[in-house]
Amino acid sequence: MVEDLKQPTFDIPDDMLDSIQKNIENIISTFDVPEENKMEVIKQINYMYSRTKYLSYTDELTSLPNRRSFDSDFNKEFLRAKRYKNNLTLVMFDIDFFKKVNDTYGHQCGDYVLQNVANAALQTFRQTDTVYRTGGEEFTVILTETDINQSKIPLERFRKTIETLNLEFNGQEIHITVSIGACQFDDFDLDKEELIEKTDMALYKAKNSGRNNSVFVSCKN
Ligand code: GH3
Ligand code: MG
Ligand code: MG
Repeated sequence: MVEDLKQPTFDIPDDMLDSIQKNIENIISTFDVPEENKMEVIKQINYMYSRTKYLSYTDELTSLPNRRSFDSDFNKEFLRAKRYKNNLTLVMFDIDFFKKVNDTYGHQCGDYVLQNVANAALQTFRQTDTVYRTGGEEFTVILTETDINQSKIPLERFRKTIETLNLEFNGQEIHITVSIGACQFDDFDLDKEELIEKTDMALYKAKNSGRNNSVFVSCKN
């Protein structure tokens, strides 16, 4: 089972919180809520708001932050790296022949594999970096303050962890592998779509070179 998954956090700016609070107060003023219950209603609506926000940024199956969350975080990290010329490496990994897992063992088994891959990724990257489920069996990691050489050790460790993962589903042993593409952001003239495209190309090369493989590239080549 998946345990101890990282929960994304949201920085809601104070002025936005104020405006949300005012909206809530306006809403409840249009209903006949007794004065003594107003604080409780505000608390409940605030809770529902943050819960809804959490769910809209979270993948239900793995509890990882989802693509929407990635888009928002990556935008910030990209601009920060560009501005301060910080190291940043973008990583995409994809489960190899995952369709075969579904076809052979069933969709539920596929879901179980996805949860375990997410969990293994969290164990590897959780200290400093965020792992996102950005597609069906595709994941993205933003490695901040990390150049391509520094990314090699954790990424290779992760690839080997998945290769040696002993998964069991309904008494069947399941073995899977992942392919990994990583691109260092070292050409600050690029825009973020180009960095994503280059990382995707690295993943594509890892797939084409036989899978269960990592390809590390620089923006300059
Ligand atoms: P490759 O090695 O080239 O990556 O091949 P692949 O089979 O992994 O890739 P392909 O794109 O052909 O198939 C991906 C499969 O992932 C197909 C889709 O049904 C499955 N999938 C996507 N999301 C989920 C999910 O949430 N649960 C399960 N069980 N399967 C999913
Ligand atoms: Mg795949
Ligand atoms: Mg895929």
